Amino acid sequence: MGNVLLCMFFFEMLEIDKILRQLRSIYGSISEELRGWNWSNDILSPPIEGVYLGVSEIANRYCPTYRDIYLRRILCTPAPYSYKTIKGWIYHAICKKIVEKAKSNLYKYGLIPGSELYSTLLIDKHNLIDSIFKEYNVLRYLGTGQEAEKLRREAESLYSFLALQAAAKLDRVLSKTTKPDLESIISKIVSVDVERIVNGQFLGLSSDLRIDMFADRRIVIEIKTGDTRDFHKYAVVGYALAVESDLEIPVDYGIVSYIHVHENSHVKIRNKVYFIGDELRREFVEVRDEVFNTIRRGVDPGKPQHCPEYCIYYGVCS
Ligand code: SF4
Repeated sequence: MGNVLLCMFFFEMLEIDKILRQLRSIYGSISEELRGWNWSNDILSPPIEGVYLGVSEIANRYCPTYRDIYLRRILCTPAPYSYKTIKGWIYHAICKKIVEKAKSNLYKYGLIPGSELYSTLLIDKHNLIDSIFKEYNVLRYLGTGQEAEKLRREAESLYSFLALQAAAKLDRVLSKTTKPDLESIISKIVSVDVERIVNGQFLGLSSDLRIDMFADRRIVIEIKTGDTRDFHKYAVVGYALAVESDLEIPVDYGIVSYIHVHENSHVKIRNKVYFIGDELRREFVEVRDEVFNTIRRGVDPGKPQHCPEYCIYYGVCS
């Protein structure tokens, strides 16, 4: 696993290629039997047919006894919404919108300098954030009090930060291009697929998994807006296996990108880069199978000795 400090929306492949190569040299190759396209073998085929899981149900291993699965899948008790949940939705929506907006403004205004792209992106900032808040019903969940105001400030800071990254990337690309044409410049600036949908059913996963970002057709990227947790790595493993089973493209790398907006409006991005080797693949499949076993048994597995307060079901179980 490697760490890298980059904005994953407007990064350049060369910047992370070195770390990817280092990871491969440390961890080696991947066994053919653990590639997603071999989903019909004993290791990868799901133990129950007709039940399909979200990658987050498997990967978000807050609960060591899998009681979260029992609550959601057997008792049909949804996890309560918290400020963190709403924040996650809003950050994700802003990340998606800024990529779309940067693209559409370039089509609209042509190959303008980065500073002008930045200005055009900022003009729409308030309307765009208003529409995201409406779309996600922030008023209903958070009301109009301090939490909503705080989230609005964070959303604005994140939007401005990403707009600046897009503008800087445009200038970098333009400075290296002798005969720029719009299409190729845009594809270089926005080199990731945002919210790429893949079908994971062969592996017992949902048919419409949404990968936050898919870069260079070989790296899956998961955006996180909360604290760093070791189990987040399982999300990129799940998506990598799903891409392999659906598209038959090898995916050897995953990046978990942590976005934080601090009180002083500074945005911090920290990326954990993983080589999705045999060990991680086996771990993911073991966790997946335990989720299926919990559903098959259908009985309350009980609580662990200690429930982490950050568990999404903490308010339900305690
Ligand atoms: S609160 Fe405890 S028992 Fe309930 S799902 Fe979370 S970790 Fe499991």
